[in-house]
Amino acid sequence: MSHLLIMGPPGAGKGTQATAIATHHGIPAISTGDIFRTHVREGTTLGTVAREYLDRGEYVPDTITNDMVAERLSRPDCVGGFLLDGYPRTLDQVVALDTILAESDRALDTVVALKVDPEELVRRLVRRASVQRRTDDTVDVIRRRQHVYAEETAPLLAEYDARGILVTIDGSGSVDDVSARVCESLGIRV
Ligand code: ADP
Repeated sequence: MSHLLIMGPPGAGKGTQATAIATHHGIPAISTGDIFRTHVREGTTLGTVAREYLDRGEYVPDTITNDMVAERLSRPDCVGGFLLDGYPRTLDQVVALDTILAESDRALDTVVALKVDPEELVRRLVRRASVQRRTDDTVDVIRRRQHVYAEETAPLLAEYDARGILVTIDGSGSVDDVSARVCESLGIRV
């Protein structure tokens, strides 16, 4: 069974790799960013609240995010495992996830961290902005998201490293190059 997590700064290519890994394992890829964007698009109450944070490049408050993830992980499609993308992002969320998983006798198996040079990240995000029209892909908001990542999320890497479940991958180069590295590290044959 695979209980996986993918981490990396904005623009590291988490979503792309998450989809590939999850498809291979036959498990759902759960992106908190995508779930928030769907709520925004559909104009739900949660979407109205989340939008304020997304558009500024700030994190949505932990209580809101934790409840949303707890509900998602309780669905039947997660029984055979899951791949979380973009959660946890704060130390409080790490604790919340541990609790959610422990309540159903589950635990994380592997955390994949993608590492990419900061200037390369900004170049990728600016390029993506012109293709996908995400409201948070402007240069100012991108810089803010990178800052928030460095302050709040980067410290989580040390926590998972200490648990012995962290695998760090070079996220530079083409999507296929990175996929090959991720697959090799997870022992997936392609
Ligand atoms: P990226 O990693 O490229 O910034 P995401 O799609 O993962 O993009 O996230 C977009 C935004 O969604 C974040 O900037 C934040 O506002 C919100 N978000 C996503 N995941 C979380 C989380 N775990 N906790 C709080 N906010 C989150």
